[in-house]
Amino acid sequence: MSDDHSILRLKDVHYQWSGPNAFGLTILDFHIKRGETALLLGASGSGKSTFLSLICGTITPHSGKILVDDVDLTTLSNGKRDRFRGDQIGLIFQQFNLLPYASVLDNILLPLRFSPSRKAKVDSPNSTAARLCVALGLPQGILEKQAGTLSVGQQQRVAAARALIGAPPLIIADEPTSALDAATQTVFLELLFNQTSANGSTLLMVSHDARLADQFDRVVQIADIVETTKETV
Ligand code: ADP
Ligand code: MG
Repeated sequence: MSDDHSILRLKDVHYQWSGPNAFGLTILDFHIKRGETALLLGASGSGKSTFLSLICGTITPHSGKILVDDVDLTTLSNGKRDRFRGDQIGLIFQQFNLLPYASVLDNILLPLRFSPSRKAKVDSPNSTAARLCVALGLPQGILEKQAGTLSVGQQQRVAAARALIGAPPLIIADEPTSALDAATQTVFLELLFNQTSANGSTLLMVSHDARLADQFDRVVQIADIVETTKETV
């Protein structure tokens, strides 16, 4: 595969939430190059999380194509789409979604249980998890701690390690820095970029915070790529 080919492409995608005042969104054409760090900016309620759910295949568009590494998610069965997501995408959620009573180590290793291809890329799970923790600036000895006892900043780094383990080609982050102050965000993003690039992965992050823009290869305003409709009753 050549370096210039897209890891992600959306073409003529339309999705409509159901219910009164239903929010609808249309993306005519959007793509991300392999290895890019891309920031998608938009106000709260502009459809950022809906957009990411479409890319992850947790919701299915009513029409259009969503290609991740040249595979059209819309043509996969639900089971295949779940496996494909596990192999291809490392996710960092806004609320981190760590298992609070499980250890940091078990949280970081979780994706390997669902993805044989990511597991195959990790020779020694425990030492890989330890190396990722150090690379993300977490203290030694954190692996045995319960995830729910950590500070917000530490939980965010654990969530990043979990997304990065097994080097999935695409890392997707939904406002992972919104709970942190500006200086902590900047340091976290530098560490995240270093590890994304060491893995040869691509990073797509969404945020409402335009101050982060300088750090990314590419910045896109969601309003420039997405048409939205909100029916009023
Ligand atoms: P953002 O992440 O930019 O804040 P979202 O994609 O979460 O925006 O939400 C955009 C709009 O989509 C919301 O205002 C709401 O109308 C609709 N929406 C989001 N999630 C749901 C849902 N689970 N059910 C119904 N409508 C939803
Ligand atoms: Mg959101």
